[in-house]
Amino acid sequence: MTNTLTIALLFFVSALCAQQASGPSYLLLSHDPAFLEEVGKLSEPVYAKGRARLVRFTVPYASLPPQIAAYVRPADIGEISYGPAPAPEVKMADPAVLAVTNRVSGARLMGYAETLTNTGKRGAKDLDASAASGNRAAMDYIENAFKELGYQTERHCYKERKKDRECNILGRRKSAVSGAKTIAVVGHMDSVGHNNAGADDNASGAAGVLEMAKVLSSYAADHDLLFIAANGEETGVAGTYALAKKMKASGEMASVAWAINMDMIAWNRNGILDIETNKEFSAFADWVAAQAVIYTKLKPYISMPAWGSDHVPFLEAGVPTYLSIENWEDHNPCYHQACDKMDTLSWTYAADLVKLNLAVVAGKAKLTPLKP
Ligand SMILES: [Zn+2]
Repeated sequence: MTNTLTIALLFFVSALCAQQASGPSYLLLSHDPAFLEEVGKLSEPVYAKGRARLVRFTVPYASLPPQIAAYVRPADIGEISYGPAPAPEVKMADPAVLAVTNRVSGARLMGYAETLTNTGKRGAKDLDASAASGNRAAMDYIENAFKELGYQTERHCYKERKKDRECNILGRRKSAVSGAKTIAVVGHMDSVGHNNAGADDNASGAAGVLEMAKVLSSYAADHDLLFIAANGEETGVAGTYALAKKMKASGEMASVAWAINMDMIAWNRNGILDIETNKEFSAFADWVAAQAVIYTKLKPYISMPAWGSDHVPFLEAGVPTYLSIENWEDHNPCYHQACDKMDTLSWTYAADLVKLNLAVVAGKAKLTPLKP
């Protein structure tokens, strides 16, 4: 009798579980450790590999806390693909491209990242606490760096904060070629807000933007250049969404040929680089991966679909865009924590990643040295 009851009870419980887990699956658009813990209490994992985490909620979607609902979207497992990029057919390096990538300096890249890391509290929300926040200091530093390199700067401010304004910092250079298309390079400058931290996420990527601006300042290009130090990435990719909206309204987005995003480029243990985009641009991602094999020591993996960083608003606007990011299967253990500091990072790896992104620019655009 007891056994029958137990079996009946087990059957009932397993039927209940099966029912709970049978809803649609959702892609997680944040991997913040605290967020993952909250999601874990309300869901069952469906898929977890590479950059993708798919779950099924064990509670009705409508009952999810808003801070969870805002960072998930329905997704089918068929959307996900992850693995080593196909080997390139041609492996010969172009000396003109090598001349560009050879200009990358790991020491300079580290210097940019160190300055940004040590600005204090770099979270966009810290602009509410003080007009002298780390976020403000980072905006000022990047604006001056673009100016010193000869770029036209623009502060794209999209949100009033209690004590300051939240702005993206742009550096631009028009091509002498009329009607030229634009190459956009983006990396977010804000962090989650720990004091003098966020070295990998994302002082490293913002430093990558500055290093690309530095190298390209020595070349004329047949494309307009647009460098974006994005703000508010850690609060829902706010800065780049606001910028994309403005660029669509003004018609500027239509002239962007393609875009590159750097987010977390300096923590490395296995030499793998993840290149992330959406399915419609997989041929572009394959070509980018080929440049990684030709011009760097990186081992490129391709990840789809795109989520959770500054490449997404460009992709949603139809612009071929990829995210270059450290291998997510083995990413920085201090991600979004106070220990995300400079001393854990590899500037050889980060420099290789910047070399790749410059090889992409040099492979797609005509660059002419301005001085020897
Ligand atoms: Zn980030």
